[in-house]
Amino acid sequence: MFDWLIVGAGFAGATLAERIATVRGERVLIIDKRDHVAGNAFDEQDAAGILMHRYGPHIFHTNSDAVFAHLSRFTKWRAYEHRVLARLADGKMVPMPINRTTVNRLNDLSLVTEDEVEAFFNARAEHVAEIRSSEDVVVSRVGRELYETFFRGYTRKQWGLDPSELDKSVTSRVPTRANTDDRYFTDTHQFMPLDGYTAMFKRMLDHPNITVMTGTEFGAIKGKVPYRRMVWTGPVDEFFDHRHGKLPYRSLTFKHETLDREWAQPCGTVNYPGEEVPFTRISEYKHLTGQVNAKTTITTEFPAAEGDPYYPVPRPENAELYKRYEAMADATPDVWFVGRLATYRYYNMDQVVAQALATFRRIETSVPLRSANDATGLVATGA
Ligand code: FAD
Ligand code: UDP
Repeated sequence: MFDWLIVGAGFAGATLAERIATVRGERVLIIDKRDHVAGNAFDEQDAAGILMHRYGPHIFHTNSDAVFAHLSRFTKWRAYEHRVLARLADGKMVPMPINRTTVNRLNDLSLVTEDEVEAFFNARAEHVAEIRSSEDVVVSRVGRELYETFFRGYTRKQWGLDPSELDKSVTSRVPTRANTDDRYFTDTHQFMPLDGYTAMFKRMLDHPNITVMTGTEFGAIKGKVPYRRMVWTGPVDEFFDHRHGKLPYRSLTFKHETLDREWAQPCGTVNYPGEEVPFTRISEYKHLTGQVNAKTTITTEFPAAEGDPYYPVPRPENAELYKRYEAMADATPDVWFVGRLATYRYYNMDQVVAQALATFRRIETSVPLRSANDATGLVATGA
């Protein structure tokens, strides 16, 4: 008998499970169809003893003191600032995001001040009346040549779409800098969980009111396990049996390799922006974790149309289709839709935690606590 069924044990589901169990004292069943908790942030030691991420590299960064403080209850941290180099077709490696060093190395220049670099960008930037697409964002800031070198091919591979077909929010994630800051993120908090993400999730879910069932599809327990309310963190269109058609999610296949040498590359991630290779980036975990090992493990990401849903695809027609599902979600009582797949938002981990904490506050103001003598019986919502 459970007060809540939570489908999905990633950041959205685990954050809510912990809050509901700890603050409300209610009983939670959290399930995941995968054989582990932590969702896409899952990490584990491989055969060489190297802590690696099964679903691609996850680097924690946030400007939210509240999110950082909340997660700090479940983990200690290792300070880590992510750095990325782009490897071009000719083998040249330059900092990404584009910064002063990138411009100087590519063009054999020696620009010194930010004003000089801004003037370089301005001389190449194209006027765009209204910035709508992911192409507009970049060409209006740095011009077509840098756009083609760093963004067009990478984006076409990653999304199977031209940047002109994608919302401006996608390439806006990556800034352009006139200084020499070569960090990928500039957030106030940039850390890796000291013992890894999976350990952090285990601590979050270690509560007498929480039952964890991995390797369990929602369909397998639907109608069989009684519960009052539900949190859904899977794809929103799946919950409604794709009633309005499939909502597009982009997938990836990961190639994990352990190499018999100490290091594979000079930094955590090397991006491959060109279309001469079918993958987008290679990441090497020891840079992220600080682990010492004679071997090293890397992951190469190959974008794919089919497979596990990893990314919502931000473009106007998908936003329209999502709105139809969102209306259905809003009209479904006692089910809360939370997370990257369920709210179709290209959210980082910290944004998902923030969304889950905000959802918890709404639950607190709108859902009465089960009273001890409540004899109304449990309802298998969604069954
Ligand atoms: P998920 O982690 O996807 O969890 C949802 C869970 O629901 C899954 O485990 C799934 O198995 C389960 N589920 C779905 N349907 C069912 C069902 N029917 N029955 C049972 N279980 C079900 N963010 C960052 O902040 N920094 C990064 O560096 C970063 N790197 C990333 C790299 C890659 C390659 C990817 C794909 C994402 C990255 N992210 C990163 C984003 C991050 O993964 C997400 O923000 C976060 O994991 C989303 O959490 P979630 O709980 O919403 O979803
Ligand atoms: N991007 C690009 N070239 C790069 C890095 C990023 O074109 O070298 C674009 C691409 O469209 C990508 C988006 O910017 O999907 C966001 O990049 P980010 O690194 O944030 O992607 P994520 O880590 O979420 O996969």
